[in-house]
Amino acid sequence: MKDIHMNKTSQYLQSITPVSSSWAQKLEQYAIENRVPIIDRVSIQVLLQLIRIQTPKNILEIGTAIAYSTLRMHETLPSANIVTIEKNEQMYELAKRNIARYASNDHIDIIHGDAVEELERFRNDQLFDFVFIDAAKGQYEQYVKLIHPMLNEGAIIVSDNVLFREFVTREQHDVPKRFKSLVKKLTTFNEHMMNHEQYHSSMIPVGDGLLVSVKI
Ligand code: SAH
Ligand code: MG
Repeated sequence: MKDIHMNKTSQYLQSITPVSSSWAQKLEQYAIENRVPIIDRVSIQVLLQLIRIQTPKNILEIGTAIAYSTLRMHETLPSANIVTIEKNEQMYELAKRNIARYASNDHIDIIHGDAVEELERFRNDQLFDFVFIDAAKGQYEQYVKLIHPMLNEGAIIVSDNVLFREFVTREQHDVPKRFKSLVKKLTTFNEHMMNHEQYHSSMIPVGDGLLVSVKI
């Protein structure tokens, strides 16, 4: 939601991004009013573009919130099966309602629980081609470790908020104390993925920062 730098480029990108369909606009409005940190409109276009290019059969999403990104992915590729995990009870209930209201088929499976606990329970014969990581920012490395055996070759992982309000690119002493540990974890995660032997990774500095990793 929070844009890193409202510089000319990101203002321009926002201004040329067409408005969403009416149901999506309703969820965007709800997110603003209730401070739900859904993905911004420029970043979601990048995410959806990757989905159009890759046409995954099975998508995993970690962090559903109100199912905004879930439903945008579903709208873009209704044939894909989507599994999405949400820990917060209130969000889970809202997401379930939104999915019942706006999904065009029954290809979305929402799980209520902590991502780490749920992923540990997944069978390793359940394979995914596309993963959107958008939950607890301090746990991204752990999510990737757990997801790794469940990915087909060529699978794409998109991790959101990896530049975290541009704190990741700032000097240490400019990072507020309450964010220091989180920023350190994100820095470690970014470097880990960039140098990972089993992934090609590339950072796209839109929105709050997207890291795109392709499994080798
Ligand atoms: N992907 C959504 C936004 C998700 S916001 C969109 O763009 O529309 C992040 C969500 O992750 C929050 O709803 C939060 O409750 C959830 N979350 C945080 N930690 C989690 C965890 N450990 N397991 C599952 N969900 C988690
Ligand atoms: Mg996010």
